[in-house]
Amino acid sequence: MKRFGSLQWILLAAGIIAILGLTGMNVYSLYALHENTLESSRENKKLQIAEFTDKIRYRFFKKFIGLGSADINRLQEQFENTGAFTPKVTKLLNKAAGDSIYDNIYFIPSGSDACQTQSPILQYSTENIFEETSDYPAVVCDGMGIARTQIKSLLADYQYNNKVLFDSHRSITIVLIDPSQHEVFGYLTMPFNQDFLRNSYLPKVLTQRFGAEEYPGMNVWLRDWTNNEIIASSNPNATYDRKQIQFVQNFPDFFDYWKVEVAFTDESTIAASNASLIKNLVVMGAAMLLLLGALVFMFRSARKERALAERQANFLANVTHELKTPLSVMQAAGENLADGRVQDQQRLKNYGSHIFSEAVRLRNMIDKLLDVAKADAGESLVNPQPTDIGEVVKSYLDKHQKFFQEKDVILDISIDKNLPAVNIDRNSLETIISNLVDNAIKYSTNEKYLGIRVLTQNDHVKLCIEDHGVGIAKKNLSNIFTKFFRVEDSLTAKTKGHGLGLSIVKNLVELNSGSIEVESNPNDGSTFIITFPILSDSAPKASLNSLSTQPESESRNKELEEHVS
Ligand code: ADP
Repeated sequence: MKRFGSLQWILLAAGIIAILGLTGMNVYSLYALHENTLESSRENKKLQIAEFTDKIRYRFFKKFIGLGSADINRLQEQFENTGAFTPKVTKLLNKAAGDSIYDNIYFIPSGSDACQTQSPILQYSTENIFEETSDYPAVVCDGMGIARTQIKSLLADYQYNNKVLFDSHRSITIVLIDPSQHEVFGYLTMPFNQDFLRNSYLPKVLTQRFGAEEYPGMNVWLRDWTNNEIIASSNPNATYDRKQIQFVQNFPDFFDYWKVEVAFTDESTIAASNASLIKNLVVMGAAMLLLLGALVFMFRSARKERALAERQANFLANVTHELKTPLSVMQAAGENLADGRVQDQQRLKNYGSHIFSEAVRLRNMIDKLLDVAKADAGESLVNPQPTDIGEVVKSYLDKHQKFFQEKDVILDISIDKNLPAVNIDRNSLETIISNLVDNAIKYSTNEKYLGIRVLTQNDHVKLCIEDHGVGIAKKNLSNIFTKFFRVEDSLTAKTKGHGLGLSIVKNLVELNSGSIEVESNPNDGSTFIITFPILSDSAPKASLNSLSTQPESESRNKELEEHVS
């Protein structure tokens, strides 16, 4: 049994550890998920920035989409003959000429040494042809020079008829190539309109794409790192602070001196993620408490069941002994009487009273067992009648006067006059009183005090049975009404009993619509207080009750007479 008990504790501890472990793992996963959510939200923002820089790049040559399918040999021929490009390419040039991002469109045929000698170069005019001009900015020659150097190394394997090259943020050059000969036909160079670029285009796209209204969760700045100048910002209200920059993105092969710098402002993501984290933690906490509660409940129930089983086993052992003892005594006495061996009057009397008292003991025992069995089966029959509790108490005391005298019981009885009637079963009340009085004497010390009070209080009649006995420790108070429960101490060990009396009392009190409480202090004594509701419009009905019920001993005598005859 002991080993089983410690196994139970080990299992409970293992269960609790498992629940706590699982909870710990879940909390850890939730936090990891929370971190991942933030991380992936930032990764997503970085992708948005990269996509943004690609889009800007595309913006600079989108007007020339379609150039790839132009026939460069025809273009060359047309240009040499007329000074103009083929209609298809001219159309593209016209579109570009109308785009405010470019200042002008210049063309430097391959082999021209215009920039070296400061001689005129070709500029696209409103008449759709190229005209010579000597008034061109140095940035045109820089752009063309960079393109010329870069294309040289690519030309041998190049498959396409054009190549777009940037001079940082200053110009774009489209190199026109004859892919069959791997030769450059010329350079279309377009300086950027710096005013439009810096003051109009870039601020606009930044605010449009990452402006505060959309709440993208970040502030984005475009910074010229060579002279530490902010060119544009996504949120004019946000102040640039280098220390808060968490991510820097370069432009792909253009805007070499400019960088996109990002400060994440994840408040909304963090708030959303925190809210979901808290929600999950609360749900998990509740589930964990529920699980722990269920586990502890199951554990306690199992222990209770075990304790009950143990008590029942003890009870069976005791009860068998207690049933056999009076029977053996009665059997021996009866045998002696039947043999006619006992002639002496005094001995005959002794045998008779022995048989009688053992029979009473046996009957009480059997009655108790039957009461418990009936209560268990829900069959305790009560026959409520208007009853005067004071009268029942008096009659009980009368019947047991001799017993109290023998036991030196100090009686302290107080019964209110004009007690109202209550609607209860008289037999039940007698059993209740007899059990409580028995206990009061059983668990008394040297002073056998028995106080019985019957009084009216508000709409109730109270029956209080008090002793100055050993009392009951607080921890046991809630158990004493449980079937088979006995306080485990040296006195109880010496006192006969089976832990059934109080469970029968409680059952009977409740069947009669009453309630029972106990007030007790170890070594001071106990008071059992039973309360029954007053019968409405009741008057004192003492005489009525005494007539309505047939006293127990009378009915027993009748049974005996019938049996003997
Ligand atoms: P039992 O047959 O053991 O007396 P009961 O159901 O009548 O069974 O009582 C249950 C337990 O409650 C007893 O074993 C005893 O420990 C305690 N008890 C009951 N009445 C009293 C009392 N008046 N004073 C002290 N302890 C009591």
